Amino acid sequence: MSHPFRFSDPRRARQLGDAIRLLAPREPVKLVHVCGTHEIAITRHGLRRFLPETVRVLEGPGCPVCVTPAADIETAIRMGEHGAIVCSFGDMLRVPGFGRSLDAARTDGCDVRTVLSADEAVHVAQATSREVVFFAVGFETTAPMTAAVTLERVPPNLSILLSHKRIPPAMAALLDLPDTGISGFLAPGHVSTIIGTAAYEPWMSGRRMPVVVGGFEPLDILYAIALLLRQIRDRRPTVENGYPRAVEKNGNLAAQRLLDEVFEPSAVAWRGIGVLPMSGYRFRSSFESLDARARFDVGEIPDSPDDAGCRCPEVLTARAVPSDCPLFGTRCTPLSPVGPCMVGAEGACAIWFRYDGERLL
Ligand code: SF4
Repeated sequence: MSHPFRFSDPRRARQLGDAIRLLAPREPVKLVHVCGTHEIAITRHGLRRFLPETVRVLEGPGCPVCVTPAADIETAIRMGEHGAIVCSFGDMLRVPGFGRSLDAARTDGCDVRTVLSADEAVHVAQATSREVVFFAVGFETTAPMTAAVTLERVPPNLSILLSHKRIPPAMAALLDLPDTGISGFLAPGHVSTIIGTAAYEPWMSGRRMPVVVGGFEPLDILYAIALLLRQIRDRRPTVENGYPRAVEKNGNLAAQRLLDEVFEPSAVAWRGIGVLPMSGYRFRSSFESLDARARFDVGEIPDSPDDAGCRCPEVLTARAVPSDCPLFGTRCTPLSPVGPCMVGAEGACAIWFRYDGERLL
């Protein structure tokens, strides 16, 4: 029995490629996605080869570990130096903070552990009498899991170093930065399953910015690009759902309730971008006792710029592609990363290095 919709069907891909060429304007347009999974699919499948010269697609701040500020990493390391067991996701451990990563801190004697979920950090805490810190990173996709654990069962020796981020405020902030020149956003499908297409509307209101939520198969992405180009051609910017098999207008209400019960929106720092209003979370007052920052006296740690040669701030704001950086593939490789974008599996530089993104540009 044939599948009703083959997501990698070359014939359909060619048809979408033809549609994209017909819809593409003569003047250059820059489409930006904010999702490492989109960048992996685009680069791995060579989708940029389907695009006419006038249409560029760049990754913005779509890699959760890449946008985690160095100050937060240093804070986690200092909590480890105070004797806590620090738990976080694998990629987070390799990202350099102020010259050192959590992995390096482990080599220096800190107890740093890789976990796959907030729930696993609970198990670590249940198995010890020592203090355990869960370094919680990620977008609206992972934040509900942190909220769920917070509501269910938190051992008294577990606290949470909160570094979750919200995508729509970051998209709006990109539009206010100089020289981003964005013509439309390909919005992330998985984040949108949680927040719904409606969540983008207040942030795009009055900005006349095309936004299309896209899935992650090659045809999903080409389809979303075609929808974006149609909005641009017709001068009818709106928030459009190009991934209706997974995303609804109002998203996952149960997950949103979890987030709302535990957290409130807060201004937080994004690596390479700065502090953005409403772009993260803080605990509501009834959960403040779980805040690792309140439990450990490590002081306020100000952020500082990355290595002078690293162009991650431009890559994370879609003002450069990885191959624009002179360190790409020379001084900076996945084995010896200089900046965060070469570490995270969803970082643009790591993806381009792995799939030869420059050749496929
Ligand atoms: S190649 Fe390395 S140094 Fe250059 S922008 Fe990417 S991560 Fe930063």
